[in-house]
Amino acid sequence: MPKMAHQRTHLVLENYIGGKFVPCSRHIDSYDPSSGDVYCRVPDSGKQEVDAAVSAAKGAFPGWSAKSPLQRSQILHKLADLIEAHLEEFAQAESKDQGKTITAARSMEIPRAVYNFRFFASTILHNTTECSEMDHMSCTHFTTRTPVGVAGLISPWNLPLYLLTWKIAPAIATGNTVVAKPSELTSVTAWMMCKLLDEAGIPPGVVNIIFGSGPRAGEAIVSHPDVPLISFTGSTLTAQHIREKSAPYCKKLSLELGGKNPALIFDDADLDECIQTTVRSSFTNQGEVCLCTSRIFVQRKIYNEFLEKFVEGARKWKVGIPSDPTANMGALISREHLEKVRSYINLAVSEGAKILCGEGIDSLDIPDKNKTGYFLLPTVITEIKDCSRCMQEEIFGPVTCVVPFDTEEEVIQRANDVKYGLAATVWSRDVGRIHRVAKKLHTGMVWTNCWLIRDLNLPFGGMKASGVGREGARDSFEFFTEVKTITIKH
Ligand code: NDP
Repeated sequence: MPKMAHQRTHLVLENYIGGKFVPCSRHIDSYDPSSGDVYCRVPDSGKQEVDAAVSAAKGAFPGWSAKSPLQRSQILHKLADLIEAHLEEFAQAESKDQGKTITAARSMEIPRAVYNFRFFASTILHNTTECSEMDHMSCTHFTTRTPVGVAGLISPWNLPLYLLTWKIAPAIATGNTVVAKPSELTSVTAWMMCKLLDEAGIPPGVVNIIFGSGPRAGEAIVSHPDVPLISFTGSTLTAQHIREKSAPYCKKLSLELGGKNPALIFDDADLDECIQTTVRSSFTNQGEVCLCTSRIFVQRKIYNEFLEKFVEGARKWKVGIPSDPTANMGALISREHLEKVRSYINLAVSEGAKILCGEGIDSLDIPDKNKTGYFLLPTVITEIKDCSRCMQEEIFGPVTCVVPFDTEEEVIQRANDVKYGLAATVWSRDVGRIHRVAKKLHTGMVWTNCWLIRDLNLPFGGMKASGVGREGARDSFEFFTEVKTITIKH
């Protein structure tokens, strides 16, 4: 495995096609978010590279899909073991490439990538199909499921290996072959994983990874006629584009998109636990998680107390260089993204809102070489109107808005009044209220008195502009297979 942590020269990545690393003639610079320096060069692949990958994936499909679930399961387990054996190297690489803290990479992200393979290696062994008997017609009906073919998988930069493997694992477990493209901003851990595929026993062509930009490499996958299925996680805007490009081919699409997730905090909530969790849900991974809380509605009776304690908690959230094991937050992904996030804070100020914390980034205690990194302190905005773009649009950074509310009906209506519908949190000790409110929220997931506790068996995904389809044990199995009903007259 390559040593990433103390890399001095630029790392140059290569595509992985048909079981081999293939150099690319064009490259894109990739930046270290904690310093702004170029440290890696990523292939700038286009149609030619994607065509080669699709051809390799098509060639591998008959052999791979003919393997038994148990054979595929054993290979997935082996890959999980290999990634786990190199966990520290992957964690160091992910932290450097994405800007996230080493603690998050070590304790949550790479372990989850390992678990994604183990999880689908297990679920593939427990699938059954349906059967229905019609005695009066002397018929038995049953369903079978078969893999779709070459799956196109496109993932974002915020949780790079975690989200890529959440797609690769179910796709290949169910017998498909894949052409995957991670974000050009965070390609390193996907490239490292390619080095383990052969040892894990994955035949050449089953997993092909193409590196490059969305408009060139991503679009070539989406509009390839021999890729009948696209699983995409990213922004709503890109998803709209993907739907248009794939429409002529009637592709199967799974779209996991952005969010503008509300927290509804009632005056009977356990305030200490609520504040601790809401600080975490707002600023985890620099606020660069689709599930992060970005609108906090607090019942008026406890509004002032909540705000004071919440801001105190946000100020304690330590921003540091990604390799600092005591840091709660690292650097944002890119200069462009940092500017975008800052522009929302400036907008809030121009609209007369109050910024209660977030100042003082210039005095951050970090080494001089990191002063050019993309850091921002946790930022809390108040006195802002629901119609402000800061309350309506996904900022995807460490910025959250806190506003008061009076009644249950009012807060449900305001929480639902955005185009997104991914996740929500509800804080109350009243069980009846929790049931009532959770059912009325227009989101794919509702956490009550907690945040981001996931059972991978259950559906994950959003409503409205937050997505189409769900992922999970059953949902991913259904998405990555085609169902056929067979009727036997006897
Ligand atoms: P983008 O939509 O910009 O990019 C996502 C992926 O799509 C990247 O690999 C990107 O490539 C690629 N892409 C961009 N343009 C095209 C195109 N025209 N055709 C095909 N592929 C393309 O999202 P971000 O990477 O900025 O990720 C952040 C977004 O992802 C946020 O909105 C966030 O909420 C959402 N997200 C949703 C999750 C969910 O499960 N619901 C989970 C995590 C994030 P490249 O970057 O190389 O240009």
